[in-house]
Amino acid sequence: MSRVFNFSAGPAMIPTAVLQRAEKEFMEWDDSGMSVMEMSHRGKEFMSIAQKAETDLREIMAIPDNYKVLFLQGGATAQFAAIPMNLLRGKTTADYFNTGQWSKKAIQEAKRYCDVNIVASSEDNNFTTVPDKSNWQLNPDAAYVHYTANETIGGVEFDHIPETGDVPLVVDLSSTILSRPIDVSRFALIYAGAQKNIGPAGLTLVIVRDDLIGETIDGTPTIFDYKVQADNDSMYNTPPTYSLYMAGLVFQWLKELGGLSAMSDINQRKATKLYTTIDNSDFYQNPVDKQYRSWMNVPFTLNNPNLDADFLAGAKSAGLITLKGHRSVGGMRASIYNAMPEEGVDALIDYMQTFAKQHS
Ligand code: PMP
Repeated sequence: MSRVFNFSAGPAMIPTAVLQRAEKEFMEWDDSGMSVMEMSHRGKEFMSIAQKAETDLREIMAIPDNYKVLFLQGGATAQFAAIPMNLLRGKTTADYFNTGQWSKKAIQEAKRYCDVNIVASSEDNNFTTVPDKSNWQLNPDAAYVHYTANETIGGVEFDHIPETGDVPLVVDLSSTILSRPIDVSRFALIYAGAQKNIGPAGLTLVIVRDDLIGETIDGTPTIFDYKVQADNDSMYNTPPTYSLYMAGLVFQWLKELGGLSAMSDINQRKATKLYTTIDNSDFYQNPVDKQYRSWMNVPFTLNNPNLDADFLAGAKSAGLITLKGHRSVGGMRASIYNAMPEEGVDALIDYMQTFAKQHS
């Protein structure tokens, strides 16, 4: 077996220790006589797995008691709709930042349910920055403010939590959750698809302040009602049991590693060395405003795009895969989520430097 360093934007790498533990428990979990995949979600074994996952996540993220933790399905995309359905609460307008392709998708979906006020947009800058605060137009009557903390495609990340006064703040944390500590109490709602830093695809995490739920718009599907999900411990219907089990193993791995501040140190080191390599070369470029460069998704281009195919082929032979940039941006993108070991980033840097030497 030879495992590669996979720089995919998601589904992404899972920590090796987690995969090994899952392999060990694959045929039989504990003394249950069965695989986790075969368990009733209402049986005591699976209930203990789900409860431990929630307890560990609450501990790692220091989630205050007045927040519900929901393990749902439908990806972050389902939340683009569920958020207005649950959080409009009698209002007709919501504020959205437009900082990239994922903001745009969230905005597009929200427009089906309410008027969307764009607080600020970086579209004119090709989504390579976060608009300056002096240009924000927050509406004090908005039901909530939504932003995408990390734009997975553009590689742009907010370096601060926007200040929105009394208006509830909602964040798409899909591609940066668990990469560093975050003050949950600043948010009304945090959501994330699992397939980057949490675990396998199929699971969607929602963390929501409990006083905000229970007032959905007419026609909201029951499955999208946060209150129903909270009252049923995310088991209104059958949850994605195996993905949740895997997420639980990832949370245990993070705890053993020293939690989110330890993770943050590693992530910052990985990102810094990769950006430094790009900035120090006249062969590669990253277009993003330095202040807002993502720690998780590092897009870069070769100054000579005619070499893109050779770069990718050579990388693949070196065991470095899925480096092709998103089709809307082109070039390369290295996603270096929590489970990408530092050796993987070092191997990429070595490869980039060698390739540049050979082709300069
Ligand atoms: N938001 C962000 C920031 C993302 O990166 C993605 C997926 N790449 C999504 C939303 C959509 O997530 P999903 O595929 O889980 O619906």
